[in-house]
Amino acid sequence: MKIYTKIMEIGSFIKDEKILREAERVEQIYPFRCTDYYLSLVEEFSSSDPIFRQIFPSFSELDEGEEDPFGEDGSTEHPCLIRRYKDRLLVLSTNQCFVHCRFCTRKRKWRDAPFVFEDFGALERYLKKHPEIQDVLISGGDPFWLPASWFDELLKVVGKIGSVRIVRIGTRSPVVAPEAVEDKLKVLSRHAPVWINTHFNHPKEITGESRKALLSLIKSGCPVNNQSVLLKGINDSYEVLKELLISLLSTGVRPYYLFSCDPVRGTAHFRVPVERGLSLIKRLRKELSGMAVPHFAVDTPHGKRILP
Ligand code: SF4
Repeated sequence: MKIYTKIMEIGSFIKDEKILREAERVEQIYPFRCTDYYLSLVEEFSSSDPIFRQIFPSFSELDEGEEDPFGEDGSTEHPCLIRRYKDRLLVLSTNQCFVHCRFCTRKRKWRDAPFVFEDFGALERYLKKHPEIQDVLISGGDPFWLPASWFDELLKVVGKIGSVRIVRIGTRSPVVAPEAVEDKLKVLSRHAPVWINTHFNHPKEITGESRKALLSLIKSGCPVNNQSVLLKGINDSYEVLKELLISLLSTGVRPYYLFSCDPVRGTAHFRVPVERGLSLIKRLRKELSGMAVPHFAVDTPHGKRILP
C-alpha cells in the first residue's frame, strides 16, 4: 500500500492551480494523507467528487472554532484514556491514520508527534479502579494502523477484567485501506466477539475490496456496524443515503449511526443543518426497512443526543 502525505504527490491530477496552492497552505496546519487505494476511487479531481471532497484540503478549514469542543483532552489523568460516559472508556490507540478525513473530529491530533498507546499497565489499573466501566472502545487515529500483536496484547489485558463485557474497535480501514484488515483476523477471532464500528459515508466507498474486508471480519466473529457522518456535498441527499444504507445492509453491515458533523474547528463547510438531517431520516424511516435506518445523533459536551 502506498500512502501519499504531501499534496505535491498528487499535484499532477489537479488542474486548478489556485486550489492546489490553497491546499498546500492548509496542509501546513492540517496535513494531507491518503492511500493509493482510496485515491483510486476519485473519479473527478474537484470538490464535486464525494471521495475527493473527503480527502482534499480546503481553504475553508482555516476557520475559527474550538479544536476539542467536547473536552476529550484531560478527561482522565492519562492522555490516551478518554472518559465521557460512566460505563465506557475510549482508548486512543494512536494518532496515525491511513487517510486524513477533512471532517475529522480529532484533526487536532494530526499535528502531534506520532504516538502509539502501549501503557497497558495503566489501562489495567484504570479498569480495575473503575468497575463501572463495561464497555471499552478502541479508537484513534485508526487502530488498524497497528500490528496484530498490539491487539493481542491489549485484548488480553481487557479480557482479564471481569467487569468489561463489551469491546469495540472504531476503524476506517475497510473504507480506505481494506488490505490492512487481513492480518488482524486471526487475533480478533481469538478474542471474539469484538464489535467493529466502521465509517462508510458514500456508496462509492463500497467496492469489491471493501466488501471482501467486511465479510472477512464478519466471518471471524466480529459483528460490523457502520457510523456515517452527514456531510454537505457528500451524502446530504436522500438518494445517496438510501444507496449507502442498502448497500451496507446487503453486505451484512448494520447502519448504526448517522452523526451530525461535530462543531470542530476546520469542519464548518461540511455541516448540514440539523433540520435537514431530521427530514432525511424521516423520509428514510418511511421508505426503507427499519434495519437499514441508522439513529440520527448529535454529539454535545454532555454526551450523544439521539434525535428526534
Ligand atoms: S480515519 Fe477516523 S480518526 Fe482518522 S482522520 Fe479519518 S475520521 Fe479521523
